[in-house]
Amino acid sequence: MNRLNLGIIGVGHLGSIHAGLAAQSELINLTGVFDLDRDRSAKVAAECGCATFQDMQDLLEQSRAVCVVVPTSAHFSVAMQALESGCHLFLEKPMASSVEQARSIVHKARHMGKKIQVGHIERFNPAMLAIRDQNLNPMFIEAHRLSRFNPRGCDVSVILDLMIHDLDLILYMVKSPVSYVDACGVAVVSESEDIANVRLKFASGCVANLTSSRISLNPMRRMRLFQKNQYIALDFLEKKADIFKLKNPDQDLPLRDSSMVISRIGTGAGTRDVIYEKPAAPEVNSLQMELEEFARAVILDLEPEVTGEQGLMALETAMLILEQIDRP
Ligand code: NAD
Repeated sequence: MNRLNLGIIGVGHLGSIHAGLAAQSELINLTGVFDLDRDRSAKVAAECGCATFQDMQDLLEQSRAVCVVVPTSAHFSVAMQALESGCHLFLEKPMASSVEQARSIVHKARHMGKKIQVGHIERFNPAMLAIRDQNLNPMFIEAHRLSRFNPRGCDVSVILDLMIHDLDLILYMVKSPVSYVDACGVAVVSESEDIANVRLKFASGCVANLTSSRISLNPMRRMRLFQKNQYIALDFLEKKADIFKLKNPDQDLPLRDSSMVISRIGTGAGTRDVIYEKPAAPEVNSLQMELEEFARAVILDLEPEVTGEQGLMALETAMLILEQIDRP
């Protein structure tokens, strides 16, 4: 497979990790890095053994695709210039500062015939990968994403910084439009919401209850999915999934080798076995996997795992939530 000529724009905290992984990837030829902070750019370029560019346009012209890892407020201008220059885009989350900007990016990419992958990295978390073969139809979802305080990311609300990861996962799994939003959020240490609780209802009848906080002492990233005869617990920090299923003792269900009957409930015709399964969670570096999936999508002309349209949908939902919080 031909390597993808990829440049990285913005090599701060996350961009420098992208650059390090791109430099080691067999699918990628790292064309170089660009950052407004020239010293930072030169340092990361030296570490990765690639070129540092003084002018972003020069990097765009030498790259078939770029990773945009600048602060969210700069996503729009950098992404539009990259698309205008004919580059495919890996764009960090949240896609842009507003829905209008995100829509313009998606339209521009379509018009230019370019691919977008949005950095919703939790899609590549081993816990999510472990349940890829499950027949998901959740009717109730409980999500908790709690982190310790870190000033990085506080330029936007916790909804756009943290909750948007769960919004993307939930929209991806539920596949139904949001019909109702109720939300509350409080700015405790920064100028925007640091903690929030949201209830979403979907046209399918599914209800999702999400809590996100960036002022928590104990980090937690968990999601619980409930559907008919099945309960799935995901732990994104521990990178594992636990599955509980109910089945009639006579029912011939395909089960994994690791499955075990942990109890039996009910009586007579209503008797059910409670099955516990621990699906194997692949040991992957999620950031490397998302980057290489993007490279593969460009090289083989495939649809990226997290499309621009999906990134836009997550942002639209986040903005609906923010409107609801602001409503007096
Ligand atoms: P950062 O502040 O550490 O780095 C941003 C870098 O971009 C800085 O080095 C800055 O000099 C540079 N920069 C700013 N404007 C620029 C421009 N116009 N052109 C070129 N360089 C520019 O920020 P970060 O924590 O690395 O976050 C970057 C992006 O990644 C944000 O959008 C953030 O939301 C996202 N992010 C995503 C995740 C995730 O889980 N997917 C995690 C952290 C950050």
